[in-house]
Amino acid sequence: MGSLLDGKVVAARIQQGVAADVESLQRARGVTPTLAVVLSGEDPGSKIYVGRKRQTAKSLGVQTRDHIFPEGLSEGETIALIQELNEDKEVHGILVQLPLPKGVNESRILDAIEPVKDVDGFHPENLGRLMVGNPTVVPCTPGGVLAILDHYEIELSGRIAVVVGRSRIVGKPVAQLLLGRHATVIMAHSRTPNLASITRLADVLVVAIGRPRLIGARYVKSGAVVIDVGINRLPDGTLTGDVDFLDAAGVSAAITPVPGGVGPTTVAMLMRNTVRACQQQIGD
Ligand code: NDP
Repeated sequence: MGSLLDGKVVAARIQQGVAADVESLQRARGVTPTLAVVLSGEDPGSKIYVGRKRQTAKSLGVQTRDHIFPEGLSEGETIALIQELNEDKEVHGILVQLPLPKGVNESRILDAIEPVKDVDGFHPENLGRLMVGNPTVVPCTPGGVLAILDHYEIELSGRIAVVVGRSRIVGKPVAQLLLGRHATVIMAHSRTPNLASITRLADVLVVAIGRPRLIGARYVKSGAVVIDVGINRLPDGTLTGDVDFLDAAGVSAAITPVPGGVGPTTVAMLMRNTVRACQQQIGD
């Protein structure tokens, strides 16, 4: 049975550092890092995520400003709001919770955020910096994946990492980060034939596909490290990952659970990014 990679422990460590930075920003500069949260539409998952982010922010002394529109904003209205927040000197970070309502082009919205306030790290400029190996902000979930691997001292250099999923917000940035750590990275996706033959090459397997429990033991090489990014809600209301935890744990050396794996580290990285954005904007 693989050992458990506990995301809550890793998140607590990151949050300790954030709380100390917030305290010193307030003491030395009289500034409280402030995150504007934009929630447009009625996605039930989004409400839960935003609630969790707000609660964590509060516990660390990060201020949040809610911009909540259950009826949903149009693309033009969302961009106008972002422009307002871009110019607001008291706002250091802008979080636009995804998904956005139908008919709103997510790329156009993310591209409208001032890169220095882009605490999710999804702006093309920030993703480009990551690509050239000189990131100023690392997207939260990919950063959380790396934080878990680092905390548990999992060797990446020279090892084979397979990332399943190639989204802008998870798969692609995770692959870049692993490449930056000198792993040999293979990316797989929905058009990859015979997926199990590819994933079984992995010393480190990162799964971000949004398919509940798809990845079982037959996809995992014996002794591999498995990071499950997936968060899926089953019809009975429980949360589960993209990995069949009990099955895959039987062959892996170490594995993240869902919940309690990558999720908590994502929120912690968002707080870290907000504090760093604040430091950058006030020239600290
Ligand atoms: P997307 O839907 O944007 O991307 C999914 C990716 O998985 C695509 O690249 C798709 O391939 C690939 N894929 C889908 N089905 C298969 C399959 N059967 N075999 C191989 N590849 C497949 O999802 P996200 O990246 O946004 O999210 C992925 C998962 O991570 C979701 O469960 C989401 O809830 C979770 N998540 C968790 C976070 C956390 O904090 N822990 C944060 C963000 C997301 P193709 O490109 O070919 O379509």
